[in-house]
Amino acid sequence: MNKIPLLIDTDTAGDDTIALLFGLLCPELDLKAITICAGNVAFENEIENALYTVEIAGRSGQVPVYPGCQTPFLKSWDTVEDIHGDAGMGSGHFPKAQQQPETLHAANAIVQYANEYQGELVIAGIAPVTNLAVALKLDPDLPKKVKHVYLMAGNNQYLGNVTPAAEYNVWVDPEAAQIVFDAGFELTMVGWEICIRHTIMDDSAWDEIASFNTPLSEFFLQVNQTTREFCKREQKLNGSTHPDAITVAGIANPALFTDVQKRHVAIECQSELTRGMTVVDELGVLKQTPNTHIVYQADTYLFKTMLFDLLKTQV
Ligand code: CA
Repeated sequence: MNKIPLLIDTDTAGDDTIALLFGLLCPELDLKAITICAGNVAFENEIENALYTVEIAGRSGQVPVYPGCQTPFLKSWDTVEDIHGDAGMGSGHFPKAQQQPETLHAANAIVQYANEYQGELVIAGIAPVTNLAVALKLDPDLPKKVKHVYLMAGNNQYLGNVTPAAEYNVWVDPEAAQIVFDAGFELTMVGWEICIRHTIMDDSAWDEIASFNTPLSEFFLQVNQTTREFCKREQKLNGSTHPDAITVAGIANPALFTDVQKRHVAIECQSELTRGMTVVDELGVLKQTPNTHIVYQADTYLFKTMLFDLLKTQV
């Protein structure tokens, strides 16, 4: 089996770590690099959280971590410690990782890996896409070199989560999102509604995960604890949410995404009210060439199965 060479761009906090575990441990995936972008929590914490996740997966020293853009292009943004905990790891407080971050900037790293694995590299963007947009400015041929970009981004036919109109990753850096959506990548969008419909882990799922009694199941319970409370209290959901994890799981197993349709997506960059809204042309009324594969449905049971198998892994 040929493993998929993968790069994950992350604002590492909470569910990002579980997405990284999929990248680090799925036999279908060969995680070459992790790049860090401004988003969820303080930048230094995002770097450390990624390094620690590599370590707890038993891969210390094997997968480099490249810090990148520490702010969005133009707009100011808010970190979300209320969702992910002060350091971004829920109720978990972990020792400092042995591995050190790399000195090469994330955007340069993206270009470097795209050249090294030309025509093969898959990128999972589970953060605001500032690094990816800068990489495009460094190398406009990136869409020809990268096989596919999967983004946890946007919202389609559902509510926003940071504003009524927008999903957090796109809201943080809408200009970068517009650059990336317009670039000509083979681009798949896994929106917030997919997370709501297909990834919620309710109390019985948490009990089952606790029963695995592995280092990774314990890690899951700690890093997602604050998110779980936030989702129940503020979002009136029935458990924790895992948008980043399902995005990377779907790269390992494409059967997870059961209904995918190509549409044109534009990003709202002007308005304050609808900043970062992913405007999906469902009826094709704009006569624009569709630029995005949008995931409309996923396999809820398969995701849960994949997640449980991951957390049962002895590392
Ligand atoms: Ca993320």
